[in-house]
Amino acid sequence: MINKETPVLVTGGSGYIASWVVQQLLEQGYKVNATVRNKSKIAKVDHLLNLQKKFTGKLKLYEADLLKEGSFENAMKGCELVIHMASPFKVNVKDAQKELLDPALKGTRNLLKQVNETATVKRVVLTSSVVAIYGDAADIKETKKGIFTEADWNTTSSLKHQPYSYSKTLAEKEAWQLQKQQNRWDLVVINPSFVMGPSLSNRTDGESTDFMIQLLSGSFKAGAPYLSFGFVDVRDVAAAHILAGTKETASGRHITCATSKTMLETALILRKEFGDQYKLPSKQLPKFLMYLVGPFAGFSWKFVRNNIGIPVVFDNTYSQDDLGLVYRDLSDTLKDQVNQLIESGHVQ
Ligand code: NAP
Repeated sequence: MINKETPVLVTGGSGYIASWVVQQLLEQGYKVNATVRNKSKIAKVDHLLNLQKKFTGKLKLYEADLLKEGSFENAMKGCELVIHMASPFKVNVKDAQKELLDPALKGTRNLLKQVNETATVKRVVLTSSVVAIYGDAADIKETKKGIFTEADWNTTSSLKHQPYSYSKTLAEKEAWQLQKQQNRWDLVVINPSFVMGPSLSNRTDGESTDFMIQLLSGSFKAGAPYLSFGFVDVRDVAAAHILAGTKETASGRHITCATSKTMLETALILRKEFGDQYKLPSKQLPKFLMYLVGPFAGFSWKFVRNNIGIPVVFDNTYSQDDLGLVYRDLSDTLKDQVNQLIESGHVQ
C-alpha cells in the first residue's frame, strides 16, 4: 500500500519504541524521516546517527516540537504514512497540564493539522496506550467479560488522578475525532501495554528502562506492591506499528499485550534467568502496608484502593487477527533487556 519511494514519518524518532520502528522500517527497505527535539543532543540521537551510516541516504533527521505550530511541515513533505509516537511518557510530574496534557493533546492536534495540510498523507498510525482503555485496575470490574478489549475507554483518569493515562485518552479521542472530519487519510491506533525489552540507545531516562533498573537494583527488595501489568516486547510493538501502517486492511484500535503479570511474577521470571545476582523482590507487600507507605512513595490512597491487588487482563486477539502480530515470550523480552543493560554498563 505504501510506496517505498516515499519516506515514512516517525515522530519522536529517538525514543525507546520509535527507534525500533525506525530501524525495522529501514531494514524493510523504507525511507524514514524521523523527528527529534534537538539534533545536537548527541546522547539522544547517536543511535540514529549510526543507523544513518548503516542505511546510507535512507534516514533523514528533522527537528520538531509537539507544541510548535508548523513544526512537522518539512519532515512530512511527500510522506504517505505518518507514525505519530512523540508524546511524553512520565509517571511522576509536577505540572500535569504542562508536562503531559499539553504536549499529548495539543501535539496531536498540531500534528494532525499538518496531516490535513499535506496532500500526500494516506494513513496515520497513532501510538496510544492501554491506559486509554483503562485508568485503574478496578475498572476491569466494569467490563462485560472481566477482560479489557478495544471497545473499552478509560473513564476514570483525570488531571489529578493518573494524569499520564488521561493525556493518552484525550489525545487518542482527539485523533479519532479529527480523522472523522475528513476522508483522505485513515487512522490506525496501537494501544501498547507496558513495553519492555532491549533499548537501541544508551539512555536510561525512559519509564520502561527505569522500571527494569529499579527492579534489578533492589528498589523493591523489601517487597513488591501487588501491581498487575500487561507486558509486551518493544520489538513487537514496533512491528505492530509497521503492520498497522502498511497493511491495507488494518483498521481501528489494537491492544498490543503479550501477557499480564504482577511485579513479583516478573521478578520470578528474572530470577529463573539470572539466579540471585540481582536484588529482586521475593515477596509481595500487603495492601494495608501500601495504604501506610504508599503516600510517601507517590501512591495516593485512591490509587492503592483501585489498583493494588487487582489483576488486569487484556484481550490481544484483534492485534493478531487484524495485523498478524506474533508475540514474543515475556521471558525472552526480559532476558534480552537485562543483557542489553549489562552490555551498556547500566547494570552489573
Ligand atoms: P520515550 O522514549 O520517552 O519517547 C517519547 C518520545 O516523545 C521521545 O522521543 C521524546 O523526545 C518525545 N517528546 C516528548 N515531548 C515532546 C515534545 N514536546 N516535542 C517533541 N517530542 C517530544 O518513551 P517511549 O516509551 O518510547 O514512548 C513512546 C510512545 O509510546 C509515547 O507516545 C508513549 O505514550 C507510548 N507508550 C509507551 C509505553 C511504554 O511502556 N513505554 C506503553 C504504551 C504507550 P525526546 O527524545 O527529545 O525526549
